[in-house]
Amino acid sequence: MIVTQISEMQAIADKTRAQGKRIGLVPTMGYLHQGHTHLIEIARKKADVVVTSIYVNPTQFGPKEDFNKYPRDLGRDKKLAYKSGTDFLFVPDDQEMYGNEPLTVVTVKKLTDGLCGASRPWHFPGVTTIVSKLFNIVKPHIAIFGQKDAQQALVIKKMVDDLNFDIVIHVAPIVREHDGLAVSSRNKYLSSEERKNATILNQTLKHAEGRIKEGEPKTQVLIDEMTAMINKVKNARIEYVEIVNAINLEPVDILESNIMIALAVFIGKTRLIDNKVINI
Ligand code: AMP
Repeated sequence: MIVTQISEMQAIADKTRAQGKRIGLVPTMGYLHQGHTHLIEIARKKADVVVTSIYVNPTQFGPKEDFNKYPRDLGRDKKLAYKSGTDFLFVPDDQEMYGNEPLTVVTVKKLTDGLCGASRPWHFPGVTTIVSKLFNIVKPHIAIFGQKDAQQALVIKKMVDDLNFDIVIHVAPIVREHDGLAVSSRNKYLSSEERKNATILNQTLKHAEGRIKEGEPKTQVLIDEMTAMINKVKNARIEYVEIVNAINLEPVDILESNIMIALAVFIGKTRLIDNKVINI
């Protein structure tokens, strides 16, 4: 069933909770793929009622980013969402979400300074504000996010802890294509040549993982090697290649336990991200 009104979604949530049932939420921007459906399947296993939200949130896009051309296909999304176990699809419009001229922004500091937050300072405040709103609208017991957006998952967990949202955050592993490219709605933008070249993100992560296993301790050496690999690819432009502590996201010089290798690379005009967590 499709729900477009906040009041209706909240009434459904209240009724579900009154019946003693657990609500699982999967927040998405739609154009669903196997990454999303995997999250929905997890929610199906962990909750009695599954709500998938589809909302392309304007406040997390920069003025020159792809908000207007972000792929949308509600007909297809409906089929995929229901097939994977969604009970309610929450699909509000901008008037419903932001029509009251809001003056409140939810911001998580520090964790949002680096990686994607450094070049896109508007992004995480947009994310944490919309996710807070979704939490208050859907009233979930559990919410499922993907490790694909590793910084986002950490930021949401911190927000939930800091603001005492009574919600369990479950982070699901990255779903990849057969050749290792992380599945993403934005892969649709890639030409066939770019699509082939986009495998460089996962290839460099694997290369770095191999070098770590060989015993290379210096992160700068690994970053330089990854950078050289990416720079050989036609029309690839690095936004960042970093190795950080997987808990606090601070840069690491010499390898220590629980690191995350993270990168954002433009292939042509398409910005792709990927990451790998390695426990040393
Ligand atoms: P999006 O629609 O891109 O905002 O993504 C919605 C949710 O799906 C986020 O929690 C993402 O981290 C997650 N997600 C997107 N792609 C993948 C993937 N390839 N593997 C796992 N989770 C994903």
